[in-house]
Amino acid sequence: MSEGKLIVFSAPSGSGKTTIVRHLLKQQELKLDFSISATSREPRGNEVNGQDYYFLSLKDFKQKIKNDEFLEWEEVYRDNFYGTLKSEVERIWKKGKHVIFDIDVVGGLDIKNIYPESTLAVFVKPPSIEELKIRLKKRKTESDDKISMRVAKASIELATAPQFDFIIENNHLGTALKEAYNLVANYVDAEKPQE
Ligand code: 5GP
Repeated sequence: MSEGKLIVFSAPSGSGKTTIVRHLLKQQELKLDFSISATSREPRGNEVNGQDYYFLSLKDFKQKIKNDEFLEWEEVYRDNFYGTLKSEVERIWKKGKHVIFDIDVVGGLDIKNIYPESTLAVFVKPPSIEELKIRLKKRKTESDDKISMRVAKASIELATAPQFDFIIENNHLGTALKEAYNLVANYVDAEKPQE
């Protein structure tokens, strides 16, 4: 199999990593394709099955764990399982592309451990826990309970930042996007378009 590279973006929920990953995916010269994770959580808002996630029932998710179909998986929140299917990475490499992940810190570090030579692991840091709370509230996609759960988890996640190859501080989105672009372009050795 021709192996490409793996680019991991991990961060506490609400740090802006999804915005960064979406921006990078639009840059053709980086030859990236998004690793669609599987999850047992319910779809939110206008999320599409097979595009944002592969939405599975809890039962199907557990069956795939038994069948050893996951590269990594995790119960990120109670009964909410998330994982990267091995078939997903193979699908993207077969297309001659590099895989970009938008996953939680434990999953991100797992990928780095499985493929230490070909993974760039980037941590996106929110300006503060307070700011994170504000962003999650603005998103209006979760109940107060769920927001508290995500904020509590964020403090633990922030402590793992030093284990990543790079930390991007998302204080100003434009700067964070440029920084992310430069890191990834160098890593995949992309030919940058003329300015
Ligand atoms: P959300 O429910 O907000 O889409 O995601 C919740 C958390 O699960 C986020 O931190 C997200 O990055 C993480 N996540 C998404 N996909 C995966 C995956 O495949 N593996 C792991 N370990 N975490 C994931």
